[in-house]
Amino acid sequence: MSAQPKFFEQVNRYVDRAARLLSLPDGLLQQIKACNAVYHVSFPLRRDDGTIEVIHGWRAHHSQHRLPVKGGIRLAAHANEDEVTALAALMTYKCALVDVPFGGAKGAIKVDKSKYSDGELERIVRRYTFELVQRNCIGPGVDVPGPDMGVGPREVAWIADTYIAMKGGEVSAAGCVTGKPVALGGVRGRLEATGRGVHFGVREAVGVKDDMARLGLSHGLEGKTVVVQGLGNVGYFGAKFLVEDGARVVGIVEREGAIYDSRGIDFEHAYQHRAAGGSLLDLPAEQKLTGSDGLAGLEWPCDILLPAAVENVITADNASRIQAKIVAEGANGPTTADGGDVLNERGIMVLPDLFLNSGGVTVSYFEWLKNLSHVRFGRMEQRFEASSNARLLRAVEELTGASFNQRVFEQVAVGASEVDIVNSGLEETMVSGFHQMREFAASRQADFRSAALATSILKVATAYNERGVFP
Ligand code: GLU
Repeated sequence: MSAQPKFFEQVNRYVDRAARLLSLPDGLLQQIKACNAVYHVSFPLRRDDGTIEVIHGWRAHHSQHRLPVKGGIRLAAHANEDEVTALAALMTYKCALVDVPFGGAKGAIKVDKSKYSDGELERIVRRYTFELVQRNCIGPGVDVPGPDMGVGPREVAWIADTYIAMKGGEVSAAGCVTGKPVALGGVRGRLEATGRGVHFGVREAVGVKDDMARLGLSHGLEGKTVVVQGLGNVGYFGAKFLVEDGARVVGIVEREGAIYDSRGIDFEHAYQHRAAGGSLLDLPAEQKLTGSDGLAGLEWPCDILLPAAVENVITADNASRIQAKIVAEGANGPTTADGGDVLNERGIMVLPDLFLNSGGVTVSYFEWLKNLSHVRFGRMEQRFEASSNARLLRAVEELTGASFNQRVFEQVAVGASEVDIVNSGLEETMVSGFHQMREFAASRQADFRSAALATSILKVATAYNERGVFP
């Protein structure tokens, strides 16, 4: 294995490459790349057995060109300062790319979740939130964390509840964090948003006939084969929506190993089997790899490789053996800069993380808007739209003499609900985001990642200029 530069350095190598497509003053580029602040907190946890342990956590503010800053919190045994800084930088570029008007941040707590009880985890997350409040590192106008690896609605609810308890009377306090359960001010559709965005992004990419012909593929998702790494929130929902649209999962890579079956794997069954405590390796398959050997599963033949777990899994060491035609980056930073060079040289299409997994933060933005407006999407107009559509149907009946049955009325005379509005906003973001990225790439003969990053860098630079930071 060759020595790898640090993760934040990898991100900056990509940024430097993209910046060559632009002509920005060097000082401005340096400011955009720099991480403005990293907070490291350590605090004691009294474990259930009475012993005391020190827990470490971080919150990185990469760029405050817009406020609040935004980015998830992860609970992971491997968490460290370099990782959190790199991930915060990716949030800056991701938000800018899809016009989510936030700066970039990320947080992490270094814990192996499997080694702590639910009560211990709750104490850890609440104490971490307390530390963030003390440092002005959380709040609807300053810094709005969200979910990431190991953090779902339950952990987000602990964060929101701690903040609200400490900031009694703050009118939009629920906007301090996103990914909340709906009962606590969350928005419908957030849980599956990243995966839904992955589906929309891949669907757009495979819908371009010329690009697919260049890769030797037919266009459309029907029959496309997928190898997915990671059955967490992004991998599960991403692959599930691809399958619902006609794709076929042929390989799954997880911690315990990997399985491959060219005839297709019953994806939902495999997911449920693991969720109930089973192992992938129990399932029937043509090929199996055990433990960390499973990483070689990324090299199995498929049309679409969906890495949706950790960073740095496609490197200069294995990129030459990847057989996929499309690498769809569900995870943040799954491809190292050197690995990315090899994929580009080999003509493999890479749908970069900052575009492809931006659905999560996009819907987080919708949730924050809901919290600031104190009204559910659709509440004001849903019934009005339904009755307008019903009036329209009746007018058509009168004019044409036609008579629509009850089923037509039920299908057409409806108004958009919250989840309809959220999914429609998400689809618009991913569809227009893809075509902007593709057109920029075509006009500069650049790869998609450089095109996406260059677009983002320009937007961040513009925000700095608007604020008169660099007159
Ligand atoms: N963890 C998500 C990401 O990497 C974003 C979380 C959020 O909504 O802030 O994009």
